[in-house]
Amino acid sequence: MSTPLSDCIRIVNKLLIDALFPIRCLSCQKEGFWLCEECRKEIKLLDFQVCPVCEKIITEKGKLCISCQKEGASDITAMVSAVPYDNPTVKKLAHAYKYRFLPDISEPLTYLLSKSILQNDFPIPDFICPVPLHPKRLRWRGFNQSLLLSEKISENLVPFMKIEVLDILERTKYNPPQMSLKNYQERLQNVKNIFAIKKDSGQTKIKNKTILIIDDIATTGATLEECAKVLKSAGAKKVFAAVIARQSWKR
Ligand SMILES: [Zn+2]
Ligand SMILES: [Zn+2]
Repeated sequence: MSTPLSDCIRIVNKLLIDALFPIRCLSCQKEGFWLCEECRKEIKLLDFQVCPVCEKIITEKGKLCISCQKEGASDITAMVSAVPYDNPTVKKLAHAYKYRFLPDISEPLTYLLSKSILQNDFPIPDFICPVPLHPKRLRWRGFNQSLLLSEKISENLVPFMKIEVLDILERTKYNPPQMSLKNYQERLQNVKNIFAIKKDSGQTKIKNKTILIIDDIATTGATLEECAKVLKSAGAKKVFAAVIARQSWKR
C-alpha cells in the first residue's frame, strides 16, 4: 500500500539513483532523457512489413501472404514491427529496458510502437493483451516489460479513450529465454504449448473480439504465435500483434 512515508522513501531513492546514475540519452549521451528529441527524430519506422510467417513477402500492413493464408499457417491476422532489428539506438533502448530494469524506457518505446500501429492502420482492438512472464522471471525483473508497454499503448492509440488491457495469459512452464537459444528449431520447441488462459480471468470477454498482442522484441515470432493460438482457441475472432523489432531468421 502506498503511504506518505513509503512515497517519500521511493522519491528519495529515485533522487539518489538519479544522482548516481544520471539519465542520459542512450544514443548521444545528452543528460535528462533516455532518448532525446533529436535522436528520437532520427529513428525511422519501417516503411514496409512482411508476412509474419514466411517473412519473405512484403505484405500490406503485415498481413499473412496468400500462400501462408491458404496453408492456415498462423493464428495471427497481421503483425507489425516498428523498426528494423539492427537499429542501434533501439537495440540499446530495448536492452536497457529489459536487462538494466529501467521501466521508464517504456515511454520512448511506446512512442515508436504506437506510431507504427497507427501508421499501419491496424483496427482498434477490443483488448490489448501482453505476453506474460513466468512468476519467477517477474520476481527477478520486477516488471513485465510487455504488460507495461501494453498499458501505455492502451492510453495512446485512440485520443481520450483507454483500451482495456487483459492480462489473461499465463506461462505454465518456466522455460529459458528465447534469446539464450541460438537454434531456430530449439526456439520453436521452447515455447510450444507453454501458454494458457488464466483461470477465472474473464475468458468469456474475448469471445468474438479483436485482440492486439504487444511484445518488445520478437525473436522467431513463435512466442506470439503460441499466444495467438491460445487466444483463438478461447474464442477470439482476430488476433493482431505488434512488436518494436523482430529478429529475422528467414529472409
Ligand atoms: Zn540523443
Ligand atoms: Zn507468408
